Amino acid sequence: MNDRIAVIGAGQMGNGIAHVFAQAGFDVTLVDVSAEALQKARDTIAKNLDRQVKKGTIPAGAPAEILGRIKAETDTSAVGDAGLVIEAATENADLKYKIFQGLETEAAADAILASNTSSISITEIARRTSRPEKVIGMHFMNPVPVMKLVEIIRGLATSDETMASVIELSKRVGKTPVEVNDFPGFVSNRVLLPMINEAVYCLMEGVGTADAIDQVMTLGMNHPLGPLALADLIGLDTCLAILEVLHDGLGDPKYRPCPLLRKYVAAGWLGRKTGRGFHTYS
Ligand code: NAD
Repeated sequence: MNDRIAVIGAGQMGNGIAHVFAQAGFDVTLVDVSAEALQKARDTIAKNLDRQVKKGTIPAGAPAEILGRIKAETDTSAVGDAGLVIEAATENADLKYKIFQGLETEAAADAILASNTSSISITEIARRTSRPEKVIGMHFMNPVPVMKLVEIIRGLATSDETMASVIELSKRVGKTPVEVNDFPGFVSNRVLLPMINEAVYCLMEGVGTADAIDQVMTLGMNHPLGPLALADLIGLDTCLAILEVLHDGLGDPKYRPCPLLRKYVAAGWLGRKTGRGFHTYS
């Protein structure tokens, strides 16, 4: 595989993925339909690189060099020279199917096509292409430059060769890959989202305030972030989308999204990215 990768979607995950690959020496094409999102991504990467310089984890000259390896594009056809395309667009199945259908002609014939989806079936995404053996889940954690895990999801048709390449690449960018199979929510969100959902039910039923619920879990269970603060970090729209996939895919009422979560999403209170979720952010 060559050393150019493409990332589709420049939101909070896409900018983090572009950051870690560029820092590891890859040339990165970052694509988003929104020019504003691309500018915001660049600003965020620059700010995070400056923080790394202040911490002494990278030298002072590194940010300019790393940013110089990232080119921003608003057209998906710009991915044609990448050996690996990582899709990190909004968590919506139809949107992802459309992107992968487009990649059929836009990406190089031998490129590996990965999705950073939090929950959507890799097998279903792969069906939209004529190279299902080259389609895989590469589920990075938020914030990408900080978190070690990449959950590697093997779709029904993913080949051993694709698995091996992606595992090796994940290690090259300093991550720890963990292999799982393709079921709704994989392992990470199958376990995490029911806890977050239960915390929202506790809030709705008045069992505790948002601060109290988060404190019980940080101080009592040693979680670095409480479940409601973590939901705000993930994005409440993304949390709702994942719960819908768990509910539809597993058919068990225990996964039904809490009505209060739906109400917050309907109000546009999506967490940190909009300044308000279960907590408020300036
Ligand atoms: P986000 O809302 O921050 O960003 C999504 C970006 O996708 C936006 O900039 C949007 O303009 C862009 N986009 C939409 N349609 C597009 C298209 N057709 N082509 C190119 N770009 C398009 O979302 P996010 O939190 O970065 O999540 C992205 C993906 O990563 C989702 O699948 C999500 O489930 C997954 N994920 C999120 C987290 C998290 O904590 N937020 C963690 C792991 C995985």
